[in-house]
Amino acid sequence: MAPTTEVKHVIAKLENGDEVKIPYWEIDSGAEGPVLFVLSNQHGNEINGCEAIRRFVEIAKVELQKGKVFAMPSANILALRKRRPHINLGPEQPYGDDEGHNMNRTWPGKADGNDTERQSYAIWEGVAKHATHVIDLHSWSRFSATGGITKADRPEVRALADVAAIRFVHVRKPGGKADKTISAYTNGRGGACYTIELTTQYAIVEHEVERGRRAVLNIAKHLGMIDGELEGQDEPVIYLDKAKETEIEAETTGLFVEAGLATWDYVEKGQKLGHIMNDETLETHEIVAPVSGYLKEYGIRRPNCDVALPAQHPYASVGDLIASIVEPDVG
Ligand SMILES: [Zn+2]
Repeated sequence: MAPTTEVKHVIAKLENGDEVKIPYWEIDSGAEGPVLFVLSNQHGNEINGCEAIRRFVEIAKVELQKGKVFAMPSANILALRKRRPHINLGPEQPYGDDEGHNMNRTWPGKADGNDTERQSYAIWEGVAKHATHVIDLHSWSRFSATGGITKADRPEVRALADVAAIRFVHVRKPGGKADKTISAYTNGRGGACYTIELTTQYAIVEHEVERGRRAVLNIAKHLGMIDGELEGQDEPVIYLDKAKETEIEAETTGLFVEAGLATWDYVEKGQKLGHIMNDETLETHEIVAPVSGYLKEYGIRRPNCDVALPAQHPYASVGDLIASIVEPDVG
């Protein structure tokens, strides 16, 4: 039986009485199976996942064999339309100035809360709480490598990370402060949610879209929802709790010029990472990889580079992080 695909909406009632319709695809195989909810764009500037989901849907609407898919490209549609991480932020305001509007800290939402909580509530009640599995797509700044996030006590999430072909897996400690992410709520009620941070914000980057599409498709195949070979299984997946990370810092001031590399890339010990042109002496300071491994961080940046252009400026101060290289499986 061919799957059916419909565009549906959850409707959030806003504080001023208006309604916002948040669209999603619902693909039904007509057969029993997992219910996979894929969402992205909880932060309005993190948009690679939107296109990754569209591409996944193109495949799933033809090939879904078991279960059901809910695919929501822009969960925080109000923030998408503001072109900022949260709806309350103005120019150069950091993510941390969220005043309760960081959608990623609002789950399972509130019917009578602020407008971000009202969107989360509509999504939770309409689709998220019915899902057995959730994939939550975000994007970090371009300086940090694509990575997934799980907790040490979540083997069911690790099983998703094992097949997703996302280079780095951040393994967080169990417990900790009150966690109001969709991941915590999904995992807490017996489901499994894998959070993936693609890289680069405010832009749609082809290789990140494809990494996102591949991760979602691999997980759907792993869950038996779609037939076919997993993609990218020759790519190493590095669990960061079992890896060694070496940081390279600037030893002089000046402009850091990248050597055409990108996070996720493999570099050999001694390979040129770039150079700093000293702003006083005009000398060139070559920077080479002290170890072989995979680039996890690359490029000069300062805090809040995800909201401010000066924080992305490649002028280095002494001690600034230039890069980090991860060697897998060192214990
Ligand atoms: Zn995010």
